[in-house]
Amino acid sequence: MSNPSLLILPGDGIGPEVMAEVRKIIDWFGAKRGLAFDVEEDLVGGAAYDRHGTPLADETMARAQEVDAVLLGAVGGPKYDDLDFSVKPERGLLRLRKEMDLFANLRPAVCFDALADFSSLKREVVAGLDIIIVRELTSGIYFGEPRGIFEEGNERVGINTQRYTESEIDRVARAAFELARKRGNKVCSMEKANVMESGILWREVVQKVHDEDYPDVELSHMYADNGAMQLVRNPKQFDVIVTDNLFGDILSDAAAMLTGSLGMLPSASLGAPMENGRPKALYEPVHGSAPDIAGQGKANPIACILSFAMALRYSFDQGGEADRLEAAVNKVLADGVRTADLLAQEGVEPVSTAQMGDAILAALDAGL
Ligand code: NAD
Repeated sequence: MSNPSLLILPGDGIGPEVMAEVRKIIDWFGAKRGLAFDVEEDLVGGAAYDRHGTPLADETMARAQEVDAVLLGAVGGPKYDDLDFSVKPERGLLRLRKEMDLFANLRPAVCFDALADFSSLKREVVAGLDIIIVRELTSGIYFGEPRGIFEEGNERVGINTQRYTESEIDRVARAAFELARKRGNKVCSMEKANVMESGILWREVVQKVHDEDYPDVELSHMYADNGAMQLVRNPKQFDVIVTDNLFGDILSDAAAMLTGSLGMLPSASLGAPMENGRPKALYEPVHGSAPDIAGQGKANPIACILSFAMALRYSFDQGGEADRLEAAVNKVLADGVRTADLLAQEGVEPVSTAQMGDAILAALDAGL
């Protein structure tokens, strides 16, 4: 049997720097755990624009459709700010998400014990936190028609349309219930059924999917504004949260800050199962290309490394190996190793991107 395949797209700014550390981790699993991957690397974002005049070449798109999982660094940077919208670096990422039809965006918010004091909330509120937000990613108000800025009488009007079909809600609800079964078996669905018809339909469909196929999972519904409040009041009450594209965008950013630094946050975007049973999948850190620190060896590679841990768990059914990698990250943090973004206490010298990667490798070795 051939090895599972990975397409790596480091992108721009700190993307290549953090991805270099992920490459070391991937090699470690091949050498020490007999878990080898066939890895290809290609361009995305500004790097692809510089080479091909487009932020994602057609051949790269085609490979992304064929491989078992795509791992992306980050795209964008000031150099590309004045480009036409159609060729901006972000369009490369959007094209991947759209053409792979990645409808479920998984954003974990996990608070590593060693970083609990780093959160803007009290230690007791966040210590031990382990929740995941499933955001619908391919529909809703960011895509609905009509959209645009129109003339209306003697002024302009800006219009966006929130639109969800039953099947779009059904498939993301299933993704959330499946995930919950592998975790705490609890789903909270968030919308605004009190003021939005799309929210009423969302609630109905989620309940129906639950009653028909997932009665064993505990389901609750919450208005998204209350959800935002509960997330900062008592985030540990949640296990899996499922919500639409707009609310998910905002709620997942709020949840992200529960855990401290952007440099710690991984994500996965999943689509329908392929012929081999694996879902179409793109894994990427939540952060951007961080032009302010790019090229200085300061970037925290953990978000990207934890994105690979998610790939192990959700694409390759290697939950045990994902646990191993997360435990190594936990150990390194507990030992006080910190990149500059994680520095809270005075007198602690930050390590470089590569030193953080090496420390995680050493912790992996120590865990064997
Ligand atoms: P950003 O996430 O790149 O940076 C925000 C702040 O967090 C910066 O101060 C940065 O130094 C810091 N930071 C981010 N990641 C870090 C890491 N791993 N280690 C240490 N510090 C880290 O967001 P931004 O500054 O708003 O955007 C910069 C560029 O990235 C823009 O071109 C934007 O469009 C793009 N962007 C891309 C993505 C993506 O590729 N998915 C996401 C967000 C922004």
